[in-house]
Amino acid sequence: MAGTVRSLRNAVRAHSARFESAIPLIASENLLSPYAKELMVSDFHSRYAEGKPGERYYEGNEQVDEVERMCLDLARRVFRCSFADVRPISGTVANLAVLKALAEPGAPVGTSRLADGAHISSASFGAFGLRGVKPVYYPWDPAKMTIDAAGTCKVLKEARPKLALFGLSLFLFPMPLQEIAPTLEEIGAVGWYDAAHVLGLIAGGEFQDPLREGVSVISASTHKTLPGPQHGILLGETKDPDLVKKLESAAFPGVTSNHHLHTMAALAVALAEQVAFGAAYAHQTVRNAQALAEGLHKRGFDVLAADLGFTRSHTIAVRMAKEGGGEAVAKKMADAGLIANKNLLPGDTSPKHPSGVRLGTPEVTRVGMTEPDMDRIAELFDDLLHKGRSVETVKADAARLKADHTTIQYCFAAGEAAYRYYELVGRDP
Ligand SMILES: *Cc1c(COP(=O)(O)O)cnc(C)c1O
Repeated sequence: MAGTVRSLRNAVRAHSARFESAIPLIASENLLSPYAKELMVSDFHSRYAEGKPGERYYEGNEQVDEVERMCLDLARRVFRCSFADVRPISGTVANLAVLKALAEPGAPVGTSRLADGAHISSASFGAFGLRGVKPVYYPWDPAKMTIDAAGTCKVLKEARPKLALFGLSLFLFPMPLQEIAPTLEEIGAVGWYDAAHVLGLIAGGEFQDPLREGVSVISASTHKTLPGPQHGILLGETKDPDLVKKLESAAFPGVTSNHHLHTMAALAVALAEQVAFGAAYAHQTVRNAQALAEGLHKRGFDVLAADLGFTRSHTIAVRMAKEGGGEAVAKKMADAGLIANKNLLPGDTSPKHPSGVRLGTPEVTRVGMTEPDMDRIAELFDDLLHKGRSVETVKADAARLKADHTTIQYCFAAGEAAYRYYELVGRDP
């Protein structure tokens, strides 16, 4: 079996080497800082700490309590809110916790359609279906590339859900929360924002500030624009102790037992680094997305929302109809070291054949790329998809560009840790 272990390590090495020499443009991915990564392989990984700091079911949790208290303090500070729970172990699990806390099976819950960019959590085959709630869909406004505020208020007044979810996985523009908030109040619904994609932008003061714009609960992943570990979080601003109690008991014991203490500790590091570097990182991430969009647009690509400035987030969407469709293009890009994903775009009719690709700048920004690099990436797209240059030459150029950016930025020990993220540390068995 030593050979098997060697093979496993070699597969992971090959994967790492591939990403090290590629341009990763997946909007939901990011890199951990060296200090966060260190805590991921600490002894926290081996332990259990069910419950809350100071109220545990296991012994030996004193330092876990200390770290979790710091993590909660940091979360409340970064997101300027009174409630945080860092026990959900992923964004989907955080969503399940909100659904368990605030919606009964059979109840209507407001959300967006998958074709308009909603996450599978909102689908009958996802978290909504697991909880057995009935989605009430908001209308989309193609001219604004977000939900239609007036139409959404109308739908909410008709269906009168007690819970209304706002948030997308193809999240280019802020939700019109301020226009919808009075309706939520009128029908007595809790506003819920899924910030999985945009949590780091919110932390850095970009995009929007949902808790000040009319929602009371945020659920999120902590590893997309927030460059933390793969984990989840709940945040809230509410004067209602009953709401807090419901969310906490949904988080534990509702949807978790142990909450993956090593990732919780790494999240605390990511949040501390957010206090120090988050604003600069979020700002550059959005600027890079806009620069990439601009670079593609001027080379003839059909970047969505050109009249709106393409995006206000880390994400852009490109319709690849004339380049061969989302599926074929995403595959060809990956072969050439430009890694992204095919994506349904508003207006697509076949879920199996998305017409677009989704591109995101969290990871390339994290390694220090700026606007000129985005233009260079757009040129590589042009070479590959319009000018007929070979996959091999584009791949070599992508690797050359990446080789100039081998250091994770916007974190402590930036510069020293180079690409240790991509290395394994032990000897082969
Ligand atoms: C990614 C995503 C999630 C799920 O997050 P995981 O951490 O992968 O479970 C939930 N909601 C939205 C909007 C997302 O984009």
